[in-house]
Amino acid sequence: MVYGALEAGGTKMICAICKENGEILEQVSIPTSSPDETMPRVIDFFKDKGIAALGVACFGPIDLDKSSETYGYITSTPKVKWQNYPILPVIEKALSVPAGFDTDVNGSLLGEVSFGSGRGLENAVYITIGTGIGGGVLSNGKLLHGMLHPELGHMILVPHEKDHFQGICPFHKNCFEGMASGPAMEARYGKKADSLSGIPLVWEIEAYYIGQALCNIILTLSPERIILGGGVMHQMQLFPLIRKQVKEQLNGYIKTKELADLDNYIVPASLNDNQGVLGCLQLAINARKGK
Ligand code: ADP
Ligand code: ZN
Repeated sequence: MVYGALEAGGTKMICAICKENGEILEQVSIPTSSPDETMPRVIDFFKDKGIAALGVACFGPIDLDKSSETYGYITSTPKVKWQNYPILPVIEKALSVPAGFDTDVNGSLLGEVSFGSGRGLENAVYITIGTGIGGGVLSNGKLLHGMLHPELGHMILVPHEKDHFQGICPFHKNCFEGMASGPAMEARYGKKADSLSGIPLVWEIEAYYIGQALCNIILTLSPERIILGGGVMHQMQLFPLIRKQVKEQLNGYIKTKELADLDNYIVPASLNDNQGVLGCLQLAINARKGK
């Protein structure tokens, strides 16, 4: 039996066919240009592959409320062509299989707790730091949706004393994404983030923001582990700096066995950038079981 996995990102749609054990049999990437161009190609890929179910993890904001008339829609995204687009209904109608739906970051988190280093955890957070910043939350064994879904990337942060950058978020300026995403780094320094590896202050400031966001997350959501993915986190030098910031900023207020072992508490994504696809696989498996 095979399952379909659709990781619907703001720049590309990754479509894959997977086995239940996490083996990826086939995968393609289709640019996220406009629904008219992109979706027929996505549907074509999955058609005639005999998938038992499909899992879709999608960029947002999206409507996750199953009782809503716009369940499965992309809602108020800044990507104008995709605003109010019924991505899930369109693909369900075309493929006629059970389909699971969640945010892109909840998808990556589900991949990590189903197939990666987070296996068995009931409370965990996954954060991606790339073109944007987003976070998925597993709370008491369930992916957290709440009123809409968490938007951890837009928490407001206190600026670093040596950083005079205003921030690039069009809604909040100096939120987490506005200060620490790849494009924020590029706007602050006038260079791509991956060309700044040799400048210590750049990473001290970056780790200060990520550390501050993680402290807020630890204090509000109490995760058992925090997993960090996305392009910017390919800078492995950030990990020890972030752990140091978290220790300093928490200032001994919380004492748990997890926080006593920060090397195993704040960790990189473990699935070679396949966490999103494997999370979609798990969404598909759950959808087939009616979960
Ligand atoms: P997306 O968020 O679009 O899915 P990524 O997670 O790859 O894609 O994030 C892309 C962003 O990450 C870009 O802003 C890029 O400059 C930055 N980035 C990619 N690789 C690196 C790297 N090795 N070091 C620092 N920044 C990187
Ligand atoms: Zn913002």
